[in-house]
Amino acid sequence: MDTGALYAPWRMDYIRSLHQPGTDACFICEAAAATTDEQRRERLVLWTTPHAVVLMNRYPYANGHLLVAPRAHKADPEELTADEHLDLSQQVTAAVKLLRRAVSAQGFNLGVNLGRCAGAGVPGHLHHHVVPRWGGDVNFMGVVGEVRVIPEAISKLHTELLRVRAEMG
Ligand SMILES: [Zn+2]
Repeated sequence: MDTGALYAPWRMDYIRSLHQPGTDACFICEAAAATTDEQRRERLVLWTTPHAVVLMNRYPYANGHLLVAPRAHKADPEELTADEHLDLSQQVTAAVKLLRRAVSAQGFNLGVNLGRCAGAGVPGHLHHHVVPRWGGDVNFMGVVGEVRVIPEAISKLHTELLRVRAEMG
């Protein structure tokens, strides 16, 4: 996915994590399986539907970078049922709507990376990226001097996104 000129050095942690042994667990399946509020917070889940899960990307290209995935561990759009396609599409739309409201996103990069060669970090579990953009971008990241997005910032935004979504009804 072309995310323009976003500077995201913390992605190196993510790229490194992909090559470490013992990190085979699928974090999207784990997110979809979260049942308690605590698990949902830890796994950055925003909401789930019968066929989809919406969560925050722990290694975002931009603040508010969300992932929308089928609950089922499926790698390819061809494997999805019609119901899954519909649900995914509706949740991508809901994610866009939420980010417009919650973080005043002015534009979006929406995309799917299929296969490792196309940049998929989790090639086994299909997911749509919803990356909010702003004119001039960097402003929403706050302190650009920070080397990575601190977990506290992601946790705070998680709480805020849940609040705004609840408000939207
Ligand atoms: Zn999975």
